[in-house]
Amino acid sequence: MAETLTPDICVIGAGSGGLTVAAAAASFGVEVVLIEKGRMGGDCLNYGCVPSKAILAAGKHAHAIRESADFGVFAEEPKIDFRRVNQHIKSVIAAIEPNDSVERFTALGVKVIQGAGRFTDRRTVEAGDYTIKARRFVIATGSSPFVPPIPGLAEVDYFTNETLFENTRKPGHLIVIGGGPIGMEMAQAHLRLGSKVTVIEGLKALGKDDPELAGVVLEKLRGEGLDILEQAMVTSVARRGKAGVSVHYRIGEEEGRVDGTDLLVATGRAVNVEGLGLEEAGIRYDRKGIKVKPDLRTTNRRVYAIGDVAGGLQFTHVAGYHAGLVIRGILFRLSAKPDNSIIPWATYTDPELANVGLTEEQARESHKDIRVLRWPYHENDRAIAEGKTAGQIKMITDRKGSILGVGIAGAGAGEMINMWALAMSQKLKVKDVAGYIPPYPTMAEIGKRAAITYFAPM
Ligand code: FAD
Repeated sequence: MAETLTPDICVIGAGSGGLTVAAAAASFGVEVVLIEKGRMGGDCLNYGCVPSKAILAAGKHAHAIRESADFGVFAEEPKIDFRRVNQHIKSVIAAIEPNDSVERFTALGVKVIQGAGRFTDRRTVEAGDYTIKARRFVIATGSSPFVPPIPGLAEVDYFTNETLFENTRKPGHLIVIGGGPIGMEMAQAHLRLGSKVTVIEGLKALGKDDPELAGVVLEKLRGEGLDILEQAMVTSVARRGKAGVSVHYRIGEEEGRVDGTDLLVATGRAVNVEGLGLEEAGIRYDRKGIKVKPDLRTTNRRVYAIGDVAGGLQFTHVAGYHAGLVIRGILFRLSAKPDNSIIPWATYTDPELANVGLTEEQARESHKDIRVLRWPYHENDRAIAEGKTAGQIKMITDRKGSILGVGIAGAGAGEMINMWALAMSQKLKVKDVAGYIPPYPTMAEIGKRAAITYFAPM
């Protein structure tokens, strides 16, 4: 006989979004049930942000050794032990894991159920041996790798982000299908760890970012030896010899083929809506995600959807932001409308690529009169000292000096975008940034220098 639980909140999915809702609600003494069918921590901890940044860090160390001669420090070509690289990835996950564990959440007072959750009607979820009738439900089931129906793909071995971080053998030649942030980060990490790497992208690599800024990153990656094929549609994949793989593609009328040893499919994400019983609960969705109103409620008022499954920007900090808004809505009846214009995002290639607000192209579409302010890294003393002179900051303002968006391509862009995210969320103007005092010498000075150009005679 299933036990019936009647908590205030039932959360389905213990990833970035679900854990934040559960922890916050529990801290207010609210009764919470949290359901997870896989690993606590979800994508970010186990198959996403954390392992990808860990392998990038390993690649960065190898790269630093290779370029150390420029600083008068001589070293031999680094020896890469892929098994040890994998141990490093695992140790990083293990260090963070306790924060997301069943033990921690149980200690916080959350009832954790390990099993798949499924709606059986508009106000009931079943999971394992439990029937849950909650006052509110939060769906935070995330997304999974989208694998396109490429002829031959099913017959070969390939990695996705769910299997790549289990690999303990250095790929001889890794072919990456997909030149988005995940594909490009993993391409550079493997390149620096000694693999040959080819990226095949159907449109434009890093195509969601400002092309001028993405261009800085692509040029650097190509300079390091990464092969990037753009406008290249993969037509089929085939096994080659005992352990190899061939990827056939077409660029315009030209057919081509790349032979490699390993394949990574990084062609986007599919939202996790299967098996949730959404129809039974009266919750509308499509292939892009669960339909949510501005306050993140679904078509069933009792149920919210947050994070990747809600179909918008797919980042850990967005899932966390949604979680905070939903908590405000459920516990305090405060308005909970996400403001996408203040959400930053970053790609952790080297150099990094980061953005908040509108890109130049978007600003030109929505505003009549804009100013584009720039400052290059090669004019920054710290960047020169560190040998990190590639890149620039690009700030878009309106005629009156309101900041519409900021993009940065260059060293530490992911860290540097923080102050711009704050500036935009607080509606600071370019004059505020021109007037603050950054410590010298820091790379963040490029922001102030760009802001000052606003006042230069045109
Ligand atoms: P998830 O964290 O995926 O959690 C969903 C959970 O729900 C999963 O644990 C799943 O098992 C569970 N679940 C699904 N269905 C059910 C069910 N029926 N019952 C019970 N449980 C269920 N974002 C960043 O901000 N920065 C980065 O650097 C970054 N790097 C990334 C690198 C890679 C390789 C990938 C793949 C993603 C990266 N992301 C990054 C994106 C980030 O991981 C996601 O946006 C984030 O994890 C989404 O959180 P979520 O709570 O929506 O879903």
